[in-house]
Amino acid sequence: MRIILSGPPGVGKGTQSHLLARTLKIPHISTGDLFRWHIANGSTLGKSVKSYIDAGELVPGVATERIVAERLLRDDAAAGFILDGFPRTYDQARVLDAILARRGDKVDHVIEFVLDNAELESRLLARGRSDDTEDVIRRRLTVYEKERETILGHYGPIVTELDASGSVGEIAERLLSTLGAQVLQAMGVHGARSGQAMV
Ligand code: AMP
Repeated sequence: MRIILSGPPGVGKGTQSHLLARTLKIPHISTGDLFRWHIANGSTLGKSVKSYIDAGELVPGVATERIVAERLLRDDAAAGFILDGFPRTYDQARVLDAILARRGDKVDHVIEFVLDNAELESRLLARGRSDDTEDVIRRRLTVYEKERETILGHYGPIVTELDASGSVGEIAERLLSTLGAQVLQAMGVHGARSGQAMV
C-alpha cells in the first residue's frame, strides 16, 4: 500500500506514520527526518539544507526528490511505503508519480490530517524541535497552506481528510478505519475486520 500522510506541521503525522508503518510492515519515509539525519551527521547535503529548515522554508531544487527517489528504490519499499512530508510541491508530486509509474504502481491513499491552528501551535511548542519557534512555526503553517492546495489539486479523488484531534491512540484508530479494514485484511494484517479498527 502506497500512502501519503499530509498535514500541517505538528499535526502528528510523524507519530502516526511510525505506528502505521509498524502495523503495515512497510517503511516510513520522512523527508524531514532524512534531512535532519544529514544535518546531524554533518553531510554536504545537511549543510546545504540547514538554513532552509531553520527558516521553515521548503528546501529548493531537486535535493528532496533525489533523496526520496533513492529511498524508494530500496527493496523494503517495493511492497509499499508511508510518505510523510513528501510531496509538498507539484513538481515533487509529478516526480513521485513518475517513479511509481515506471514500476506499474501509483499512490493509493492520501490522508490529510486536519487540526485547528491553536491546537497545532501548542503541540509544536510542546515538541520543541529547533525549527519549532513561534516565527518559524508561523512561516511553516503559511508554507503548508500552499502545499495543501497542491496536494488537493493533484491527488483530489484519493484524498481523505482525517480529524487529527484527540490522543495518539484515538488518531491511530481513526486512521486505520479510514484506510479501510478490508484493505488491511487483504494485506494480511492481523486483527483487521470489516468495521473494526485496530491498535
Ligand atoms: P517536516 O519534518 O516534514 O516538518 O520537515 C522539516 C523541514 O524539512 C521543512 O520545513 C523543510 O524545510 C524541509 N522539508 C521536508 N520535506 C520537504 C519537501 N518535501 N520539500 C522541501 N523541503 C522539505
